[in-house]
Amino acid sequence: MRSKVVVGNWKLNGSVAGNEKLLASLLRDTPRNGAAACAVCVPFPYLAQAQGLLKGSAIAWGAQDCSRHDQGAYTGEVSGKMIAEFGGRYAIVGHSERRTLFGDTDAIVVEKFAAARRAGLVAIFCVGETLAEREAGMTQAVLARQVDALLDKGGAAGLEGAIVAYEPVWAIGTGKTATSAQAEEAHVFIRGRIAAREEPNIAAQLPILYGGSVKAANAAELFAMPNVDGGLVGGASLVSEEFVAIWQAAGAH
Ligand code: PEP
Repeated sequence: MRSKVVVGNWKLNGSVAGNEKLLASLLRDTPRNGAAACAVCVPFPYLAQAQGLLKGSAIAWGAQDCSRHDQGAYTGEVSGKMIAEFGGRYAIVGHSERRTLFGDTDAIVVEKFAAARRAGLVAIFCVGETLAEREAGMTQAVLARQVDALLDKGGAAGLEGAIVAYEPVWAIGTGKTATSAQAEEAHVFIRGRIAAREEPNIAAQLPILYGGSVKAANAAELFAMPNVDGGLVGGASLVSEEFVAIWQAAGAH
């Protein structure tokens, strides 16, 4: 049985004072049903603040990216080990904003995934199609390409203990959410693709999160789907009441 996970992606948002306020209200309003895991992925400079404020709480923290290198002459990079040193448990890799705006190719994303794993982090591997790809009937082909890049490198066993996030690009930050049926269909496809690599148990146990305009208003319907194991939440993770309600919805399914 997979338990649900809700991860907030703060993106390029936050300030020391604002984070303190947001985290204090998440801590105050932490759902008592306790069934879903929760984390916030903060900008790198705030990892120490998250560690200071969240240590010992029900909320874990992590980063939104991770260098594919462990150390060396790579100006501006942040390694998985550095994230782990600040107590970070998660690293998002392959977010569509990194893929489209910062040139993260399938090959780079796979290297980042491996680097996060080497550092002992739970890598959250993001995949998803653009609107043009969906309209051209290419959703499954795109998901297959992105997932296969990872499977070809480490096999399905490489996904043990990791998380996949299905994030249709057309739903990220647009207010357009995939229907629960569209999300379920994509999650079933991803799980099946991984199971076909002769590791059905790993596929069965793998949490697959949905991301793309998840809000308090649509979370319960999405999380009720048998293959939707929680959410990767952008905009709504910056609003305490919204994020708590999403976390609560995850715990109820
Ligand atoms: C995201 O950043 O991963 C995301 C899903 O954003 P939003 O919830 O704002 O669509």
